[in-house]
Amino acid sequence: MDNPTKKILLASPRGYCAGVDRAVVTVEKALELYGPPVYVRKEIVHNKYVVQDLQGRGAIFVDELDEVPEGSTVVFSAHGVAPSVHVEAAERYLKAIDATCPLVTKVHAEVKRFANEGFQILLVGHNDHEEVVGTAGEAPDVITVVQDANEAATVEVADSSKLIWLSQTTLSVDEAMATVDVLKSRFPNLLSPPSDDICYATQNRQLAVKAMAEQCDVVIVVGSVNSSNSVRLVEVALDAGAKNSYRVDDASELQEEWFTATSTVGVTSGASVPEQLVEEVLAWLAARGYGSVEVVKTAEETLIFSLPPELRRDIKAAQQAKA
Ligand code: SF4
Repeated sequence: MDNPTKKILLASPRGYCAGVDRAVVTVEKALELYGPPVYVRKEIVHNKYVVQDLQGRGAIFVDELDEVPEGSTVVFSAHGVAPSVHVEAAERYLKAIDATCPLVTKVHAEVKRFANEGFQILLVGHNDHEEVVGTAGEAPDVITVVQDANEAATVEVADSSKLIWLSQTTLSVDEAMATVDVLKSRFPNLLSPPSDDICYATQNRQLAVKAMAEQCDVVIVVGSVNSSNSVRLVEVALDAGAKNSYRVDDASELQEEWFTATSTVGVTSGASVPEQLVEEVLAWLAARGYGSVEVVKTAEETLIFSLPPELRRDIKAAQQAKA
């Protein structure tokens, strides 16, 4: 039975962003069109349920292209790849479909442009994240990754008069700006990106959590541990005043002791999380008296990305052949 003192604040927007949706649909359509197996380099998006579901339909996930038999179809993940990966795919006669999120591609384009203009680039992001590896691969000689304010305080540059910072798309806005502030104080001529690199979906999910965190005894973030934007949502919730915050892959990881002296529970999910996993968390909480759900909506999202052009072309050809 519902307990009138117990309620849920449900963040909106949450879950799938346009880039994740496009990447998942890309693999689904590729399986439909070419038939299994379709190889996928790296996790298509950072969520283990999405990966397991696609594996069940015939996708094979690999770390590197040398695991893909010559002539096969391979999809590149939403996080993007370095140019060397495209070269390797061509050398191995692979049919490559690039599901890199267009917002990541935009950062790659900025890297190419500023590297060509002779800039040194400080890339604010996490060294081991696939997106950063791919972005840095566009111009490895002129990019230095700066992970946090501490690294910003010590990073060395060759020529501070031609210097720009760019960033990973899924950082916490506040943390990124703290790092950039240190860089700016050390390098007054440091240029900022021509447009914001931290993507709309990351920002929207963080803003929704900020709007409700102060009212929450605990904020539950649904998302996998390797999902950068999910991990950031826990940090944002705590910084914005939530008493506690935990990340879970799914409802089975929720622990009774987190809710012993709790009346208001916030719930949100990272950009790679299917809504079904959130619904299961809500059902788990409802069974413990948290039946009242209030949506905290801070933005409307309508962005949709079209499928990769190479896939659209093949879908069209298949439709024409059938007609
Ligand atoms: Fe693209 Fe942003 Fe989604 Fe990453 S989080 S896939 S950058 S829309």
